[in-house]
Amino acid sequence: MALNDDMQNSLSTRHVTFHDGTAIPCIGQGTWNMGENSLNRQGEIKSLQLGIDLGMTLIDTAEMYGEGKAEELVGEAINGRRDDTFLVSKVYPHNAGQNRIITACENSLKRLKTDYLDLYLLHWRGSFPLEETIEGMEKLFQDGKIKRWGVSNFDTSDMNELWNKANGSHCATNQVLYHLGSRGIDFDLTKWQKDHSMPIMAYSPIAQGGSLQKELLENKTIKAIASQHQVEPLQIALAWTVRSGNVIAIPKASKENHVLQNAKASSIHLTEEELQMIDKAFPKPTRKMPLDII
Ligand code: NAP
Repeated sequence: MALNDDMQNSLSTRHVTFHDGTAIPCIGQGTWNMGENSLNRQGEIKSLQLGIDLGMTLIDTAEMYGEGKAEELVGEAINGRRDDTFLVSKVYPHNAGQNRIITACENSLKRLKTDYLDLYLLHWRGSFPLEETIEGMEKLFQDGKIKRWGVSNFDTSDMNELWNKANGSHCATNQVLYHLGSRGIDFDLTKWQKDHSMPIMAYSPIAQGGSLQKELLENKTIKAIASQHQVEPLQIALAWTVRSGNVIAIPKASKENHVLQNAKASSIHLTEEELQMIDKAFPKPTRKMPLDII
């Protein structure tokens, strides 16, 4: 689609870099719950395409989402523009054994109508030994089916364990829940990942809609900063998640105005003073918290 001036100004400019030197825009797009209602299908496809136009080229999906329906929808949305996108999918823990993971990945590729993933994640830790999952991921990498691999919902102790396995340090990222109302990872995982040059992928970065999101957006500090920047409070919440340069946020949006707002959030720079105000309103944890998981 042709972009007007306002849209051009929204183009995502800040990037996050993986250990292999690949840099991607710091705000991408989630797809959980997409592809499940035929009435919303065309709107969801258009939203993803608009997001790509606006520079949110990373698309996050999973074999779990609608049992493959979200992957199929993404396949349709990126038809003819695979090279413009950075595709992420995830394997169910029960498919993360060495042989099953190959089949699971091939099925995801078929649904996505592509022959490679840019990133393949273990969705959460299950009962297969990590060694087996790593071996499967490495085989997929050697066969050219994935460009890199990572994990999701791993806490610091899980990351240490992974890192110390053979080839565990090839892990490119860890995707975890992170938003203003859930910043438990700032106790130690954020630092662990920075020290290991590993970007964090922040899921549910705007608290999934609903009551918690409303609560965050009605906070007077967030409202005051938003008014200063002449943007919506939610854009401040999103800009906050990507402030460090080592976090990629993946908000899901199926409405055009939401997509536009999210894309614009990547060019909002919060000052030190504003970050301190936010820290006062939403304090960093002072002790280890269990990893929040949805
Ligand atoms: P989210 O992105 O925090 O929130 C999505 C909700 O926010 C939707 O209701 C959306 O509405 C609304 N929204 C989006 N942009 C908005 C805006 N600018 N203003 C107001 N509302 C806005 O929640 P999420 O979908 O749970 O998380 C994002 C992605 O992370 C998922 O889609 C999935 O890809 C990934 N994820 C991964 C895991 C994991 O275990 N690894 C777990 C959860 C999620 P509309 O759709 O109506 O626009």
